[in-house]
Amino acid sequence: MVGYIPYGRQDINQQDIDAVVEVLKSTWLTQGPVVPRFEEKVAQYCGAASAVAVNSATSALHIACRALGLGPGDWLWTSPNTFVASANCGLYCEAQVDFVDIDPQTYNMSVTALEEKLAKAEQEGCLPKIVIPVHFAGQPCDMQSIAELAQRYGFKVIEDASHAIGGRYQNEPIGNCRYSDITVFSFHPVKIITTGEGGMALSNDAKLVRQMRLLRSHGITSEADEMTYVPDGLWYYQQIELGFNYRMTDIHAALGLSQMQRLDEFVTKRQAIAKRYDVLLAELPVVIPWRHSDNYSALHLYVIRLDLRKVTKTQRNVFEALRAAGIGVNLHYIPVYRQPYYAGLNFKPGYCPEAEQYYSETISLPIYPALTEVEQDQVVTTLEAVINA
Ligand SMILES: *Cc1c(COP(=O)(O)O)cnc(C)c1O
Repeated sequence: MVGYIPYGRQDINQQDIDAVVEVLKSTWLTQGPVVPRFEEKVAQYCGAASAVAVNSATSALHIACRALGLGPGDWLWTSPNTFVASANCGLYCEAQVDFVDIDPQTYNMSVTALEEKLAKAEQEGCLPKIVIPVHFAGQPCDMQSIAELAQRYGFKVIEDASHAIGGRYQNEPIGNCRYSDITVFSFHPVKIITTGEGGMALSNDAKLVRQMRLLRSHGITSEADEMTYVPDGLWYYQQIELGFNYRMTDIHAALGLSQMQRLDEFVTKRQAIAKRYDVLLAELPVVIPWRHSDNYSALHLYVIRLDLRKVTKTQRNVFEALRAAGIGVNLHYIPVYRQPYYAGLNFKPGYCPEAEQYYSETISLPIYPALTEVEQDQVVTTLEAVINA
């Protein structure tokens, strides 16, 4: 018997701990030298011009939307199959939020549905200013097609790559922003690498980067060339925007920088675990996650769909039995617009039928670098027993 197996967890080694302790003993706990080093490291890894580290992906999404000029009267579209933060960033900017249904094979935003919705929105004069595709579970969205639509309809693209650092799209790293204006990562402990809490926004557009740097720290600049008034003296700074305190500390950045050294190893392990699940689950009445052969998923999640024509239990039965047996399964995601807050914005059940069908059949199995084969076998034998009981 093994202990409780969570669906995801961080992997911290002595080197990570030493890196954090070193900062604690240094002069700067925040706004020191480590944040820029972490930014440089991630930007280089991804092949993006610049990266802006912040205290969460939620903050990164917010300043990304602000930098792209989202405001009242604008529309932001995203996938319903995501964490609420991918949509909330639009509401922070007082824009209106809408959802594009998912593709039943990839569980990502459907490009066909997006194209249809854009054609309709064009006629009605309510095209989106920003579209946020989410690389669900690490599986890259069809970014090339989305970028073509962005060209045609004139919207901006923010990739929510919270699940996807270390993955590749068409053999290039996620985060290089080849097909987007900005890419956002999350470093929450269940994600691919962690800083405790933390996030990052990457871009190749120097103006956007400058704007996001301003917004993460109160809208304050100390750069003379950004100032509107003549500086009073060496002590002088100017607030030229209404920004926030979304800064990452050097303590968090030290952990992230250290974790970057094992990013590839983490994703390799996730890939191996997923491939092993594919084999172990082959005979069970479940749909295993599809992966595009041209892409390399970071595999943040391993999501199965119960074939409810063959499984006599309900999804809830299976889920509860697994939890009772110490398997920390989870469910990603409740369609965002089904949240009470969004119901208050007049979204009705059934709005995105594919996302709802998916939601009624899906379960996320444990996947994280330190998951052992013994634990994985336990997950599969328990699932098998629950389904056949
Ligand atoms: C985790 C997550 C976020 C938010 O990340 P935080 O760093 O916790 O703010 C946003 N979008 C998606 C898809 C996520 O999974």
